[in-house]
Amino acid sequence: MRPKIIVVGSSNTDMFVRVPHLPAPGETVLGGQFITAQGGKGANQAMAAARLGADVTFVARLGRDSFGQESLKTYQMEGIRTDYIALDDTTPSGVALIVIDQKGENTIAVASGANARLSPQDILAAEPGFREASVLLIQLEIPIETVEASVDLAHKHGVQVILNPAPAARLPDALLKKIDLLTPNQIETALLADESSTGQVDRDAAALRMKYGIKNVVVTLGSKGALISGSHELTVPPFPVQPVDTTGAGDAFNGGLAVALARGENLPEAVRYANAVGALATLRAGAQTSLPTAQELQDFLKQNLGDAFHSPGGLLA
Ligand code: ADP
Repeated sequence: MRPKIIVVGSSNTDMFVRVPHLPAPGETVLGGQFITAQGGKGANQAMAAARLGADVTFVARLGRDSFGQESLKTYQMEGIRTDYIALDDTTPSGVALIVIDQKGENTIAVASGANARLSPQDILAAEPGFREASVLLIQLEIPIETVEASVDLAHKHGVQVILNPAPAARLPDALLKKIDLLTPNQIETALLADESSTGQVDRDAAALRMKYGIKNVVVTLGSKGALISGSHELTVPPFPVQPVDTTGAGDAFNGGLAVALARGENLPEAVRYANAVGALATLRAGAQTSLPTAQELQDFLKQNLGDAFHSPGGLLA
């Protein structure tokens, strides 16, 4: 059976213009071609899991506008369940305006729009979706009370909760205490560890786990793989790649992790799988465009792991 995952989070339309140099205040710079792409951490993670073959329900809020319609169409084409995506009559869809210069430096302005209006009521309306799921995957680009309502509903239905605490923010103790698996990157780990941060990521992860009673913390380490603190204590090595663009690697990792855990893999195996998804996502430009399909992932794992992982229920299941 396909693993069932519920993703609650943001959906944005990203709009890019490449320019010879970033405009100074008041300056107009003529740029190259205008490109749009679907984005938002919630949407990226939902798509990552769906591409890998999971049965994904995405809970989000879009504006009733052309951007929202386009996003909805994309999600449906990717096989994501959109029954609990609300369309907002008064607030536009979330957008990000991104200007990039020739060196790859950028400036980004985000209007959260309808994402900021994803409410606890929207979450309650999605209860049938929660009831069926085995994993909830959630991030922080939506109101904190909506994150809390989602985590509470997941608990009610015995759904495992993965919180990707991005973008970096301090969080209420009561919320952290309810998380089964926290997946910060290094910056987010230091911020959450706060004044007790030692500057050492393994110690900070362990301290976070103890302080809040979180079962497991998995810290993503970019090109160094990922660290597990909790049921296991180990660093899972990365898959060696020559990255083209690391945008969205964290979202790919989280989507992969949710899929592997929903499939019943143990944590080290699931993190290894997520490392492969994250690594593959660095090989193409963009966030959602770079997310691998189940077939691409399987080919990549075969090339990188040989026959050792062909066991049923293992990485290639
Ligand atoms: P974020 O973008 O959220 O800060 P990271 O940069 O830690 O996340 O990347 C997430 C995951 O993607 C890493 O844990 C790793 O599995 C994979 N990854 C990212 N960059 C590379 C890389 N250069 N080589 C191999 N794997 C990578």
